[in-house]
Amino acid sequence: MTDGLHKLLARSAERPCALARSELAALLAVEDGTELQALFDAAYALKVKYCGKRVAIRGLVEAGNVCAKDCLYCGIRRSNGKVTRYRLSADEIVRLAELNAKQGYASLVIQSGEIESEEQTRFVEDVLRRIAPLDLGVTLSLGEQTEEVYRRWKDAGASRYLLRIETSNPDLYTTLHPANHSWERRVECLRALRRCGYQVGTGVMCGLPGQTYDDLAHDIEFYDKMDVDMIGMGPFIPHPDTPLATSCQSLATNHQALILGLKMIAVTRLYLHDVNIAAATALQALAPDGRERGVRAGANVVMPNITDVKYRRSYQLYAGKPCLDENAGLCKRCLERRLASIGETVDYGHRGDSLHYRRRMCASASIPGGGER
Ligand code: SAM
Repeated sequence: MTDGLHKLLARSAERPCALARSELAALLAVEDGTELQALFDAAYALKVKYCGKRVAIRGLVEAGNVCAKDCLYCGIRRSNGKVTRYRLSADEIVRLAELNAKQGYASLVIQSGEIESEEQTRFVEDVLRRIAPLDLGVTLSLGEQTEEVYRRWKDAGASRYLLRIETSNPDLYTTLHPANHSWERRVECLRALRRCGYQVGTGVMCGLPGQTYDDLAHDIEFYDKMDVDMIGMGPFIPHPDTPLATSCQSLATNHQALILGLKMIAVTRLYLHDVNIAAATALQALAPDGRERGVRAGANVVMPNITDVKYRRSYQLYAGKPCLDENAGLCKRCLERRLASIGETVDYGHRGDSLHYRRRMCASASIPGGGER
């Protein structure tokens, strides 16, 4: 390992946000096998320092694939006529939330395509009120909404919201979306979520056509600037029925895309220290042990899919989605086994709130120490 890399890793471990953008980009550009391992080891040491050898689990409910958006990379984009559209009923989502609680997962993510309507707002409120007695930490990932809607869902029981910015470079964002999709609105939504009191998560795709290491370094600075609590990011994987897959020639091998995704996790952990970072399912699409490798590179959250298998094929954002035929029980055993193989355990019974969020709350209330895990 070069002396320069050794010094960068040592400095980044000392305190958060210790590196300049060019230094973040230099870490993201590391390719040598020994240096990569040193990068992942340094990030994993910080993950263990802040989160222990435990992984927070959120059961993922893919609540529907009806989407008003037409993002050029996404398999469930409005214009993809090959997708069979579905929306889970409130009863189905409540049943999955109960199953989630029964599995011992204290946290749940409800994700779907984006629908902005009073009917959808009321539907989600109803679901949230019905699952409130289960006392789960509930993350919503339902896209751009007005501040009033975010507030209503917060009042109904949601505590976290994940809205990926996709890229912090507005020009790059423009190349990935139709003209009526607004990067500025997404940023404003993140601000609105914060005002409503959510634990706020964002993230990007890495390996996008035209994206540079400098863009990715800027993405990590963006996470800090927005002071987010959670990061959910992952490699871009072309979906054959989308314009971006047709226009971009094969960009990277699965291995290269996986390594870039792992480097983003590691460098984000080294820069931000105490945020929650998810090992995205997209990593598992690139390698069977992709999520475990994400944890070994600094992630502390995994989101096993608990949606009924009959719907999973209809929620394919990218090619090669894993666990299409595995029900939640099988996923649970497989996950335990996989995490045990890297010396990690499932953090059953805890909501896994972001340490960054708890510190933020304590600082604003001037309470020393942290709250309930
Ligand atoms: N509608 C919600 C929203 O906009 O935040 C949540 C659903 S959206 C499909 C979830 C995420 O999938 C997006 O934020 C995007 O980053 C990711 N995604 C979509 N297509 C992808 C692809 N081809 N490769 C990797 N990730 C993709």
